[in-house]
Amino acid sequence: MTIFHISAECFPVAKVGGLADVVGALPKYLNQAGQTAKVVIPGYDNKFTNENQFESVHQGNFKMGWFEFNYSILKERTNKLGFELYLVAIPQLFDRPNIYSYEDDTERFTAFQIAFLNWLTETNQIPDILHCHDHHTGLIPFMVQNCYKYEQLKSVPTVLTIHNGQYQGWFSFDKMHYLPEFHSSKIGFLEWNNIINPLASAIKCAWKITTVSPSYLEEISHSANGLENLLRYERPKSIGILNGIDTQVWNPETDEMLASNYKLSAFEKGKLENKKFLCDEFNLDITKPLFTFIGRLVHEKGAELLPELSDIILYRNPNQINVLILGSGDTTLENQFENLKSKYVGNYNCYIGYNEKLAHIIYAGADFLLMPSRVEPCGLNQMYALRYGTIPIVRRTGGLKDTVIDIGDGGFGICHDNVTLFDINHSVTRAIDLFLDKQKHQNTIKTAMQIDHSWNLVAQEYIAVYKSLMN
Ligand code: ADP
Repeated sequence: MTIFHISAECFPVAKVGGLADVVGALPKYLNQAGQTAKVVIPGYDNKFTNENQFESVHQGNFKMGWFEFNYSILKERTNKLGFELYLVAIPQLFDRPNIYSYEDDTERFTAFQIAFLNWLTETNQIPDILHCHDHHTGLIPFMVQNCYKYEQLKSVPTVLTIHNGQYQGWFSFDKMHYLPEFHSSKIGFLEWNNIINPLASAIKCAWKITTVSPSYLEEISHSANGLENLLRYERPKSIGILNGIDTQVWNPETDEMLASNYKLSAFEKGKLENKKFLCDEFNLDITKPLFTFIGRLVHEKGAELLPELSDIILYRNPNQINVLILGSGDTTLENQFENLKSKYVGNYNCYIGYNEKLAHIIYAGADFLLMPSRVEPCGLNQMYALRYGTIPIVRRTGGLKDTVIDIGDGGFGICHDNVTLFDINHSVTRAIDLFLDKQKHQNTIKTAMQIDHSWNLVAQEYIAVYKSLMN
């Protein structure tokens, strides 16, 4: 079975968040399970593209509205990622360093999708499955079904995975002429609330919808940034499949980014060496519990509560705990985190920005990982933390609910229900108690490190979905 994964991100090529981790791992495990999974993303002007070898396998041009674009399909020569990787290079649109947040993102991602489908049709490729990820590829199910130009792909089953339903890629009808010609009676498949909505379009047109955790599937029928009714209507073709983690990349025994490697049977020394690295680097106290947060500094992650929370817990527990924040996002929040540095010297620090290596060391060296998310479709951080023996403190929502069981219920994490300072603070207090009870803490770490969230089983669930569509 040949499956094309089409996405804006793919680790290690281009990453902003969890989408990249999934697209960089699931296809690899599908290939290991005997399928042929390929990945197609835009060709950004970034480190990976510049440092690796590609061959041009196709070139073409197309009109999008009044604009005309040339494009090339570049194939990574070695398949070293465990799958065939194709970059869609479109000069003027993607030869820039960042993935998102340009004014012409609508033009960029619409052109990406058109170029991809043109490539398939111009080279007579008819895959078994087109697997689209999030709204950046959400117009593909509509286009293969309705654009005359792609007639030969009409019977190819399409799958949409919703990694985050908050972002939908809306644009106005004056850009509808960007799409190749289709019958005007089909316009309804593009719109939601009087605007073109690529995510809604994919929800309507894809043969199957998957969400990245079962709980998130439940939640989006009540809260999905305006798409609740549509998702309820399309529920019969939807399924929640919990993400896995790439245990070949995220393995404390072999992870080359760590200050020190360690295994389950001797985790204490290795974790402590990583903690020492962090404490030396960020001027923290190695004998005290280290609380961390890694992620985008946005409202949906509950990040705006963290400066005040840090202030409260550091004030109430003077010299008793450490807090280390790694993230970027809202600039006001970034400044608040920076400003706390001078107030709690020796117990607090932050790194504002994106740093993959540091994230790995924090998962290994921290004692607790805070995730007070409002919305967490799956969440990978808690799974990485568990594998590295760091206890997650999570709000029960989405994938966090599906993956973290509270120590009070015989589990390996600390959970709370509300995104409030009161609830998070209570969890922090419980965490300090756990840290002080050395035996219990160690047993909890051992349990956490043994939890298996690898992709092997999850890949089989996707294969079952693909097969059901081909039948
Ligand atoms: P989301 O995709 O909503 O941001 P996930 O939990 O699914 O959240 O995935 C987040 C991924 O991004 C993880 O691999 C995490 O380690 C990584 N990450 C987020 N922010 C940073 C950062 N500032 N530096 C390094 N890695 C980060």
